[in-house]
Amino acid sequence: MMILGFFRLVFYLSVAYVIYLFLRLLFSPRRPARSQPNSPQPSGVMVKDETCNTYLPREEAILEKAEGKDYYFCSQECRQKFLEQRKTRR
Ligand SMILES: [Zn+2]
Repeated sequence: MMILGFFRLVFYLSVAYVIYLFLRLLFSPRRPARSQPNSPQPSGVMVKDETCNTYLPREEAILEKAEGKDYYFCSQECRQKFLEQRKTRR
């Protein structure tokens, strides 16, 4: 009966392996569609672009520090516009 015990063990092991593969597939983190391998996990924080009044995820925004405040922009154009506005205001 040693042989039967061995086959049963192999059977259980392969079943466990299949379950393991299935669970790994189920819980594996999905790769984001965007091709930004170094981007951090999305925090869900939305920031406002002061130039075009658009809200966007903080990870995708361009950060500009001015007078100790953080300003976020959706694009370099908006950032430039913001900086030019600040220049002309003074
Ligand atoms: Zn913008």
